[in-house]
Amino acid sequence: DAITAADLENLAVLGHGNGGTVYKVRHKTTSATYALKIIHSNADATTRRRAFAESSILRRATDCPRVVRFHGCFEKPSGDVAIVMEYMDGGSLETALTTSGTFSEKRLAAVARDILEGLACLHARNIAHRDIKPANILVNSQGEVKIADFGVSKLMCRALEACKSYVGTCAYMSPERFDPEASGGNYNGFAADIWSLGLTLFELYVGHFPFLETGQRPDWATLICAICYGDPPSLPETASAEFRSFVESCLKKESGDRWTAAQLLTHPFVCKDPETH
Ligand code: ADP
Repeated sequence: DAITAADLENLAVLGHGNGGTVYKVRHKTTSATYALKIIHSNADATTRRRAFAESSILRRATDCPRVVRFHGCFEKPSGDVAIVMEYMDGGSLETALTTSGTFSEKRLAAVARDILEGLACLHARNIAHRDIKPANILVNSQGEVKIADFGVSKLMCRALEACKSYVGTCAYMSPERFDPEASGGNYNGFAADIWSLGLTLFELYVGHFPFLETGQRPDWATLICAICYGDPPSLPETASAEFRSFVESCLKKESGDRWTAAQLLTHPFVCKDPETH
């Protein structure tokens, strides 16, 4: 049965994000614990549409193994949208980095494999996450690692929808009518997720965002220039050849050269013994 606001009791605030608050809640009759994300819309139609988009993407992805499970979505009388999802009791990898320090290669190989399994499943469903970063990767006490926060995710197969809603012959439509972001063919949301995965692993290994020194505050213009015109960052000498090669395969400047999630799952860094797979 669908979960409603009346079924849930607030236990604690788990975090705040862009336009939303995430609570730890308890289901009054089943005693199950969930995370409840409330997206404050102030009755604004665009925010509400985005919130429902986030919810429908999460629903579509929920049978992916490394994605936080979706348990329902409801609307509050105020117009706020609430998404009920699996509660991850171990917090995010960003928190883990601040509280426990940098990750070992062994741990990162396991984390990379989990994120890749999640991304491979999402990409196979035409979903680009578009905000892969340590704060959006959650862990639980069973040692599971899952992808969360689909607030800016996108269903990439807009073409069919555009085609269906177009009155006329869609064969004559220009590429940007199908998907503005795909125009020119140089935007690939899936490859963008792989770049972000590379930076995420890099940060968890060295302890700070790759393009910045420890504790340095970002100057956005300089940072963007470094990302767009500089060489991709490379891991320090302490990293193994396999790890360096893995991160290099993620951080190819040309999105077309980047490995896909499915390809990376066969990389020796995450797949020590390919023969057994
Ligand atoms: P926003 O999209 O507003 O940034 P997030 O979905 O990233 O919100 O959630 C904000 C914070 O809430 C996260 O960084 C995390 O600490 C916490 N959080 C989110 N989802 C869960 C969850 N399923 N289980 C536990 N904590 C969560």
